[in-house]
Amino acid sequence: MKLIYEKSSPGRSGVQMSSIKISPTEEIPSKYLRSESAELPEVSEVEVVRHFTALSRLNFSIDTHFYPLGSCTMKYNPKVCEAAANLPALTDVHPLWPQLRGGGLLTQGSLGLLYKTERLLSKVTGFDEFTLQPMAGAHGELTGVMMMAAYHKDRGNQKDHIIIPDSAHGTNPASAKIGGYDVVTIPSDENGRMDFELFKAALNEKTAGVMLTSPNTLGVFNPRIKEICDAVHEVDGLMYYDGANFNAIMGRYRPGDMGFDICHLNLHKSFATPHGGGGPASGPVGVVERLRPFLPISRVVKTSDGIYTLNYDEPKSIGYIAPFYGNFGIIARAYAYILSLGRDGMLGTSNRAVLNANYLQEKLRPLFKEEYKGRCMHEFVFSGKNLPSGIHTLDLAKGMIDRNIHPPTIYFPLNIPEAIMIEPTESEGRETLDHFVEVMEELVELARTDPRKLQEAPVTTPVGRLDEVKAMRDMRLSYT
Ligand SMILES: *Cc1c(COP(=O)(O)O)cnc(C)c1O
Repeated sequence: MKLIYEKSSPGRSGVQMSSIKISPTEEIPSKYLRSESAELPEVSEVEVVRHFTALSRLNFSIDTHFYPLGSCTMKYNPKVCEAAANLPALTDVHPLWPQLRGGGLLTQGSLGLLYKTERLLSKVTGFDEFTLQPMAGAHGELTGVMMMAAYHKDRGNQKDHIIIPDSAHGTNPASAKIGGYDVVTIPSDENGRMDFELFKAALNEKTAGVMLTSPNTLGVFNPRIKEICDAVHEVDGLMYYDGANFNAIMGRYRPGDMGFDICHLNLHKSFATPHGGGGPASGPVGVVERLRPFLPISRVVKTSDGIYTLNYDEPKSIGYIAPFYGNFGIIARAYAYILSLGRDGMLGTSNRAVLNANYLQEKLRPLFKEEYKGRCMHEFVFSGKNLPSGIHTLDLAKGMIDRNIHPPTIYFPLNIPEAIMIEPTESEGRETLDHFVEVMEELVELARTDPRKLQEAPVTTPVGRLDEVKAMRDMRLSYT
């Protein structure tokens, strides 16, 4: 078989469309041909249905279980956003359809949705312009770092490093490095914030920028952001806002107003797209006016007569970073989510997320070692260092699976030993939170009274406790 790409004659709209034809006539080399029939299972419809239904039930999901996976914002995704994103007008368009006039009006709705989402995100974050192209938070970071590099090159700046606190998500240093910079890591102070004095000592003329998560991965807000921004701008560095924790602040304050120059959002975390297992994702990037020329192409623009079109004519752009216009379905969900909540709804959402996290933190305090005192934002981190000897945070996590709760994030962030990181999100009511506390109390008690039981958990899953080493080395999961 061979794929043949050919230009067809102009269609009725007068626009050239490319088409793909598949020719089954090509010879397949005999070494690739079967000599015996394939061993396809002979099963009835109901057997197929039961097989896949059983597989689907092995999953934990936010629609079935409490899912306090810190850093990931596993919030409930309202079905209205799903319904909106599944409208045929949005799902039936193809990115190769012509954008311009002369038949191009077919895609005006989709381009308009992209344009309006960019405007809304700019409003919500306080930035001047957005690109919706990056396909994940990490991809947004890389886009941001590439724009930083383009900015400094344009200004003739000699920069060689980016400053990042040690509590940052691992994607931050990875993006900085792939973007061509060395990483200078700043330890956290006793309050879980980037140590200000060490930061000042590291900052110099060679600093390309600083990447900050706010509130950070420990769930802590840094009240000295303005001072940090001012100091970085003094050396013509740029401030990057990692917006993965935007759920904690949306509607309350805007990173653009705090002095940041670039930010990414994780639409799959904060704006109603189910995620996990590596996708799907969308990580739009916002910038202040002076970085606008460096945004990736294409750009969705609105002409003076109200037509949406794509602009590729941006000489200083960092170029293409993704096919077409980003992860369209997720952008559509985010658009629906923002419109359905409005400003007050967004504020209410983040208020509840922060309240729920503080409620849990307060209730769980007696059980764990606290690394950082004080109130948290939308998530918090404890250490399991005070658990009875031989019992690890991992054992608690496994015990939770038997009690129908998705384990929180463990062993992250890396600067906290035996870390357990909990993010309840705004979706949960008090009954669920209280039940979670009871389960935690029960598990910590079990660690004291019958530790072996906890070390054997989970016992309710088909495979029991995974052999972690084997799981890493042999990816084929065996049910025997
Ligand atoms: C999730 C996360 C990222 C990376 O986002 P992806 O969409 O998973 O690539 C970056 N920073 C923080 C703080 C995160 O929680």
